[in-house]
Amino acid sequence: MKVKLTLEEIATGVEKKIKVNKLVSCDTCHGTGAAGGSSFSSCSHCRGTGQVTRVTSTFLGQMQTTSTCPYCNGEGQTITNKCNTCGGSGTTKGEDVLSLNIPAGVSEGIQLSVGGKGNAAPRGGVPGDLIVQIEEVPHPELVRDGSNILYEHYISFPDATLGTSIEVPTIEGKVRIKIEPGTQGGKVLRLKGKGVPSLNGYGRGDQLINISVWTPRNLNRQEQEILEQLKNSENFKPHPGARDKSFFDRMKEYFQ
Ligand SMILES: [Zn+2]
Ligand SMILES: [Zn+2]
Repeated sequence: MKVKLTLEEIATGVEKKIKVNKLVSCDTCHGTGAAGGSSFSSCSHCRGTGQVTRVTSTFLGQMQTTSTCPYCNGEGQTITNKCNTCGGSGTTKGEDVLSLNIPAGVSEGIQLSVGGKGNAAPRGGVPGDLIVQIEEVPHPELVRDGSNILYEHYISFPDATLGTSIEVPTIEGKVRIKIEPGTQGGKVLRLKGKGVPSLNGYGRGDQLINISVWTPRNLNRQEQEILEQLKNSENFKPHPGARDKSFFDRMKEYFQ
């Protein structure tokens, strides 16, 4: 079965109560399959051994083959009086509510196996395991990339030039960060330790904030005139220098 988790739940780990539809042990016969709980008799076909031996005569002599008894399915006993509720299988359809402890750092598609919490086995056998598959619910603003979290934030051209402070969402709530005057579009700010913990318990990713500078698409006449005046100003011409990391340097930094 599947369990949906939000990014916040993945980051902290979570205890989830889940309802499982499965085969449960029959209450009427306590899983034995027999009415009254005691009406068993030794299988008359295999005399209780669960196996039948057949002797066939061939031209080489007599050949003996042993196979599982088809009358009792190898159990050695048959039910003389089957339970009415489960028809002798010892299991009925039912549901179970379980509490699952999901560790921090799981990701989409990971399967967790819960021992003994699967379907009940016929006539009191060992129950199967419950397999739980993790499904990630997409976050409205944050994107998970392994143990890192990515976020894109647009600032206006005046804010990029003059500097400002912005509020960004993280999995632990909003955080205010400073934008230095003269910030270039494409700058990546790193919030250390604000990512997702690794599943093995060692370390934790970061949140990376990609700063984009919004270029206006529409200008009124006055705005157009102001920009025309500034266009040829020396300060407005691009002068990338040593402190402006190239796209390639930023990528290298990201993957380190
Ligand atoms: Zn038998
Ligand atoms: Zn029953």
